[in-house]
Amino acid sequence: MVEVSNFIRTMPKAELHVHLEGTLEGDLLLVMAERNKIDLPFDDADGIRRMQNETKTGLTNNLVNFLRCLDICREAMRTAQDYYDTAMAFVRKSAGENVVYLEVTFDVQQAIRQGVALSECIEALSRARREAKRDHGIDVQLIACFQRDHPVENAMETLMALDPHREEIVGIGLDNYETPGFPELFAPVMSAARDRGYRLTSHCDVNQPDSLTHIRECVDLLGVERIDHGLNTAQDAALVEKIVSQRIALTGCPTFHVSMTSAPSDRVEMIKTLFHAGALISLNTDDPAQFGSGYLSHTLAACQAAAGFGDDEMIRFMRNAFESAWIDDRTRSEYLTGLDRFRAASAA
Ligand SMILES: [Zn+2]
Repeated sequence: MVEVSNFIRTMPKAELHVHLEGTLEGDLLLVMAERNKIDLPFDDADGIRRMQNETKTGLTNNLVNFLRCLDICREAMRTAQDYYDTAMAFVRKSAGENVVYLEVTFDVQQAIRQGVALSECIEALSRARREAKRDHGIDVQLIACFQRDHPVENAMETLMALDPHREEIVGIGLDNYETPGFPELFAPVMSAARDRGYRLTSHCDVNQPDSLTHIRECVDLLGVERIDHGLNTAQDAALVEKIVSQRIALTGCPTFHVSMTSAPSDRVEMIKTLFHAGALISLNTDDPAQFGSGYLSHTLAACQAAAGFGDDEMIRFMRNAFESAWIDDRTRSEYLTGLDRFRAASAA
């Protein structure tokens, strides 16, 4: 693991792209599996890590392999208590490294499929939000993600079922396996979500078939204001210009599930290109427990080391995160002022 500087550790931080299910650490997973009577294909946390590493072979199948492994882990989450415990474990980790703002994604259809009542799941996560603020001073907002490899009709039904909980959810996203032509298919769902006042994002994973087309269509057909990953934008100058001029935010994740000691170089090169072109790009962990990549400080440190960024550039990435956050302008300005003060104090 890369060493984390004091500057990065103490910088006030925001994270916008992190999956609740991907923060589930081995020790909690084992507790959960036991109380839910789930058979896992491993006996201890080392076994989990071994399996994660075994499935991380080759580049093209990485997303599929990674999701397969993630599926085994997240399927152990069967009760609202499991969602609460996972959220609070992540909040405590985040508090330990001065994260002040979090937007956390959860797979709402998966929770329902696994027998968790929607209202109980949302109540558990809302309780975690309140306790994060009360006990750790962290503002947490929730993004409900629909899974692209499940029927679009189910996404629409789930969107409707979320209506009574509208105030607890800030945004709607799309994630899981990147299916061909998904933007057009999900356009009616995202349009209905927009009508309900949700903010919109979608994954466009790195180096997938039709990455560039998907990114363009997510902006033009779905009207998203943010793309999760979206790094392949860097390969197309016209798309870079579009993303920059329309201020579409990109939530980059430099440390992926290849080898977690450093950030894979192609991602770093794409992040550099987008950053220097003036894109609103931030740095995020995605699935920190699954990737074994460490949490936000480690991700920032790994990217800084791999890209040769200085501290001023890390501040700019963090400004981008606060600029992309789904908060009101006054709150945004308070966060940015806090970041400026931190920079001034660390330079003194
Ligand atoms: Zn993600």
